[in-house]
Amino acid sequence: MVDRSVSMENFTLLSVIGKGSYGKVLLVRKKDTGELLAMKMLKKDYIASRNQIEHTKTERNVLEKVNHPYIVKLKYAFQNPKKLYFVLEYCPGGELFFHLSRAQRFDEARARFYASCMVLALEHLHQLNIVYRDLKPENILIDADGYAKITDFGLSKENITGNTGANSFCGTPEYLAPEVLRKIGHGKAVDWWSLGALIYEMLTGLPPFYTRDREKLFHSILNSELNFPGYISPPAKDLLQGLFIKDPSQRLGSGPTDSEEIKSHPWFAGIDWVKLLNKECQPSFVPNVIRDHGLNNFEEEFKRLPPVDSAGAESKLPAQSPTYQGFSYTESTDLQSNDLETMDLES
Ligand code: AMP
Repeated sequence: MVDRSVSMENFTLLSVIGKGSYGKVLLVRKKDTGELLAMKMLKKDYIASRNQIEHTKTERNVLEKVNHPYIVKLKYAFQNPKKLYFVLEYCPGGELFFHLSRAQRFDEARARFYASCMVLALEHLHQLNIVYRDLKPENILIDADGYAKITDFGLSKENITGNTGANSFCGTPEYLAPEVLRKIGHGKAVDWWSLGALIYEMLTGLPPFYTRDREKLFHSILNSELNFPGYISPPAKDLLQGLFIKDPSQRLGSGPTDSEEIKSHPWFAGIDWVKLLNKECQPSFVPNVIRDHGLNNFEEEFKRLPPVDSAGAESKLPAQSPTYQGFSYTESTDLQSNDLETMDLES
């Protein structure tokens, strides 16, 4: 059998492009193919000290399970005694957040386009009984053609069939659905709430109920009706009112057909869902990715950092620990990715 497993040796590190809650992300080049990829590095000790081992394993599992044009693809995963590495398809357009903060807000056509990509991505996850739980402009990346993709599955939850089953109090405060705040159990409908929050932020420049006062924010999410600026069109307002229904069982998208209720809403009337799934649309904004591999779409504060794989603390997990057994991965072409799992030891 051909050994297609990889390690740091196979990559040239080019630039830091981002930082997540638990590690940094670098633009790298695979030495043999020249392919540009994004490498997410996680320190095992840090993950353990923050009780994130299960979330990290879920991220790895979910990335292997999904296969969708609007979800970032996992190309490789590998580990050493100190760190875990995810090597992902590189999205040279950067974060949706980067573009939204510069534009302040998007017109409805542009917001609708990104929202439509997200509807299809969430639909795919829900079909696999995965709830995403962290939709926000920072977790949406723009690819070279201008389409939007979800990344960061650290908060996802598997095996959720309906609107309950998940219990952790997690997510990003401004995007939390009422049932998460109430701690009464939640499910797929939280993603449709956060789709509403995303659309609202794209159209107005701020998340719904925005205030720096956390208590006030949570009180409004639970109790207040949302105000809509006058420039929001009636169909957009109607869609958002459906997505912001506080009772998850009544929320748009919570019925047995999941995304279909949303896709058939008048605000999406101009979207050809089949064409969109096949990436046959013409995105109105195509990022400039010719210059510098698209690095102009990433924040200076990251690019200033040295592109190195710093020596992390030695993991307190014993060498050969089974904690991350089966973590390694190579995108399947002719070989099944599982063929490689037997090689996955931590040493
Ligand atoms: P994460 O830890 O997955 O939230 O990633 C942190 C940040 O790194 C993201 O918000 C992006 O700015 C950047 N990033 C992550 N994955 C990619 C990717 N596949 N392509 C380009 N940038 C990425």
